[in-house]
Amino acid sequence: YICGDAKVTKTHSYKLYKMSVERSFIAVKPDGVAKGLIGEILKRYEQKGFRVVALKQLVPTKELAEKHYEEHKERPFFGELVSFITSGPVVAFVLEGKGVVAAARLMIGVTNPLLSNPGTIRGDYAIEVSKNIIHGSDSVASAEREIALWFKTEELLQ
Ligand code: ADP
Repeated sequence: YICGDAKVTKTHSYKLYKMSVERSFIAVKPDGVAKGLIGEILKRYEQKGFRVVALKQLVPTKELAEKHYEEHKERPFFGELVSFITSGPVVAFVLEGKGVVAAARLMIGVTNPLLSNPGTIRGDYAIEVSKNIIHGSDSVASAEREIALWFKTEELLQ
């Protein structure tokens, strides 16, 4: 099967069917907030059936942004990335649901909006890699790290 940008084998498809409930960290970046896309993005995830278990708006500090993107600290665009994400309000939220980490990424599209399929968030609303509207965790392990970085335990519904 072709599933978004990934080839999905029958075995993988069976694993998706059996997939357990997960949590993913999502952030509408300053360009997404400025374009008035908070509601549209939340609507897509809610209509899909994922549950919002935490939600807040904040202007991230430089420290938070650097920790969030620490895997990219040697990349040439790191400075630009941190200054962009701290340039205005971000809407950070946590989604819960079966297979939500991979599914949320499929709904986002790929890193470069010009290569993202129409119907995906980046495919529908962006052109520039550096202004690609939204962040979504790329694995269950990253989701756990990012949720702990952005939210206190008591801010999450149990
Ligand atoms: P994704 O957000 O799709 O998981 P990455 O984790 O690879 O992508 O990169 C993090 C963010 O850094 C991207 O969403 C994008 O905004 C930015 N970025 C990635 N590559 C570049 C690049 N070559 N130039 C500028 N910004 C980039």
